[in-house]
Amino acid sequence: MVLRPVGIKKAKILANSNRPYMKGSVVDSKFTDINGHSYMNEIFDFLHKGKKEGTISYDYEDNAGVHKEIIFFIFYKKLELLVIYGFNLDNVEFIVKEAEKRYKAAFRKYRVDALFLSISIILVVGVLFLFIARRVNLMFFKYKKEVEEKEEKLEKLAMYDSLTGIYNRNKFNEILKYEMNMSKRYKTPLSLIMFDLDHFKKVNDRYGHDTGDKVLKMIAKTVLNNIRLTDTFARWGGEEFFLILPKTDIEKAKNIAEGLRSKIENANFKEIGKITCSFGVVSLKEDDDEKELIKRADEAMYLAKKNGRNRVEVL
Ligand code: GH3
Ligand code: MG
Ligand code: MG
Repeated sequence: MVLRPVGIKKAKILANSNRPYMKGSVVDSKFTDINGHSYMNEIFDFLHKGKKEGTISYDYEDNAGVHKEIIFFIFYKKLELLVIYGFNLDNVEFIVKEAEKRYKAAFRKYRVDALFLSISIILVVGVLFLFIARRVNLMFFKYKKEVEEKEEKLEKLAMYDSLTGIYNRNKFNEILKYEMNMSKRYKTPLSLIMFDLDHFKKVNDRYGHDTGDKVLKMIAKTVLNNIRLTDTFARWGGEEFFLILPKTDIEKAKNIAEGLRSKIENANFKEIGKITCSFGVVSLKEDDDEKELIKRADEAMYLAKKNGRNRVEVL
């Protein structure tokens, strides 16, 4: 049976498909696909019902199994044009699967690239961090060392006399306070020796200030080598020195002073030869404060000067 719908007598057919299988002519309705299926009658049915487009589907079987074909058409009446699209769902599935495969491969590659990029960024950031941390650490330790050295220097300056290396007046005052407290608390004797170089001005005048400095250093060394570890030796200022003798009564202190006086008297100092010192010895009394004790030591020392120098006086 040949069906001739109105207006399609001379219609051109534009057949498009994912499979190039359209063949035949619409005029004699022999338009079929490669499966030999003609769907022109179905299309004409649509057109007779006044529809300008529609979808037709059918199954066909071959060695590979059952397949689903879908045909979609549009009729442009003014143009006398019938456009037919045909799809094989197998192909669509194949295309989708291929696309899925491509997508998965691209995604895998993207994942590998992203992983590689992440590892690279982590490595670069890590190395950079380590480098910066090392630099900061080095800077910090250098700074810390500098601060510690400066602190040590300041501490030394605060405690020690820069010429002789023995305790300075500040440290002497601090230790004296402590030893006086200990002596009062434990009822142990505490003695003080003050000594001053005799006619030291003449040494400076005759041999120069630098030689005078050397003499001060040598005297300090001589005394330091002849006192006990528990004794405190300090430069009070100029050419005056103090000794704090814990657990030492006035008699013992006098003997120590005598021993030092004799050591200095008998020593031979390079460049200047002989030099002597005058000593004042005192012991802590119950109502003494530091000021009182120091004042009495100073008076004892001046008594030694007054009485002819190079001698020990006790007050
Ligand atoms: P005296 O026997 O009465 O103590 O006589 P002196 O000449 O030792 O006493 P005086 O107080 O008249 O002089 C002390 C001198 O000590 C004056 C000063 O130039 C010197 N002198 C003080 N400190 C230092 C110092 O650090 N280095 C040197 N080279 N001399 C100093
Ligand atoms: Mg003097
Ligand atoms: Mg003096």
